[in-house]
Amino acid sequence: MAILDIVTYPDSFLKKPTDPVENIDGTIQQIIDNMAETMYHAPGVGLAAIQVGIGKSLLIYDVSPPEQDRSLSVLINPRIVQAEGTQLSENEGCLSVPDYRSDVKRASSILVEAFDRNEKPVRIEAQDFMAIVLQHEIDHLNGTLFIDHISALKRQMYERRIKKMLKKK
Ligand code: ZN
Repeated sequence: MAILDIVTYPDSFLKKPTDPVENIDGTIQQIIDNMAETMYHAPGVGLAAIQVGIGKSLLIYDVSPPEQDRSLSVLINPRIVQAEGTQLSENEGCLSVPDYRSDVKRASSILVEAFDRNEKPVRIEAQDFMAIVLQHEIDHLNGTLFIDHISALKRQMYERRIKKMLKKK
């Protein structure tokens, strides 16, 4: 297993919609293992393949509390088929958007259809924090970042700050 480099804003690759996975083959299994290593190392609770430079519809997450054993979930070609209610995701952040957090409005419960890594179809009803994580990661697969949900003014301020940081490097 390997820790992969994380693609960060403003890299335009993050804006590209991803392609569906057609074959859950050995290459995909290896990508999943490397993504898991990368996510736990970061550490993060979710990671989409696009964040490690792979333009496929694939994401992983683990929302189990730190004191519990790891419980990795893999979603391939996920789709939100139902969304209800609203909740405020407080201080949302992203491994691909360094040094920034913001409140984001999200649906409070969603129903997701996908395949797991064994090609089994899965339906997931997610609420609260898990619904936030899944909406955030599925957004990535459509080329959307959480900062696309905040006001243009706030986004501009972050953009300016990140450009200054990049100039200094
Ligand atoms: Zn993210």
